Amino acid sequence: MELSRWLLVHGEAAQYGVFFGLFTFLAVVERRRPFRPLGPQRLPRWPANGMLTALNVVVLGALPVSFLGMARFAEANGIGLLHAVALPGPALVLANLTGRGLISWVTHLLMHKVPLFWRIHRVHHLDTELDVSTTVRFHPLEFPIALAVGLPLVLALGLTPWLLVLYEVGDVAVTLFSHANVDLPGPIERLVRLVVVTPGLHRVHHSTRPEETDSNFGAVFPIWDQVFGTYRTATREPPREMAIGLAEVRDARSRSILWLLGVPLLSRLDAAGLGRRAQESR
Ligand SMILES: [Zn+2]
Repeated sequence: MELSRWLLVHGEAAQYGVFFGLFTFLAVVERRRPFRPLGPQRLPRWPANGMLTALNVVVLGALPVSFLGMARFAEANGIGLLHAVALPGPALVLANLTGRGLISWVTHLLMHKVPLFWRIHRVHHLDTELDVSTTVRFHPLEFPIALAVGLPLVLALGLTPWLLVLYEVGDVAVTLFSHANVDLPGPIERLVRLVVVTPGLHRVHHSTRPEETDSNFGAVFPIWDQVFGTYRTATREPPREMAIGLAEVRDARSRSILWLLGVPLLSRLDAAGLGRRAQESR
């Protein structure tokens, strides 16, 4: 079977296979050879991160529309930029993958810049450490927003369905890797980050310093951050010691599933938001 047909038939299973296989592998690696020291806060974060991940799998399955459905519609009706121009094979592959990467970059930028979206995306950034369990730690409302922003762009670009699936499988692999508490040797890291996002690059985005959080919005390819001037390779503090998360909330609230689900209702986060109870549960 050709790769294109195989991906259209088995793409979803491939995404789950890559997710569970690579998740397990990286969890073992980051336990044996962690880049940042394993503090006492590491494991208490996992129940909330695991519950959000499980919830998101259900939400994703329940959403009535998908990027793939839109790409199929665009292809069937010849709609969109990439269906209007006749690109040779390799250029078409590159245009589809980087085009999908641009949709992801724009969506992530909006998550940070639109105040209402940021209330939701904060859940991902409230994690006070970074490891493979952070990868799908999102508020479930993030997915309908990503669809609302992305669906018109999938149509406008005219993405090819099987290349979209190829991107999604790659996205699972790269995002698990970029959130993991691992590091590549310097020269290899510099080589890999020419093409895809590395843990060293994505860690900058999870810094508590706002100017560092406002960089590296790319999930798979760093190219759009380079194009739009949001590419940053280093943090002010040493990456092993730098604070991760948001400066406002460092206590047990960041590990409480109920509090995290209610976070979008809060206009701003307060270090003393829960008063004494939060202080005591630290
Ligand atoms: Zn972000």
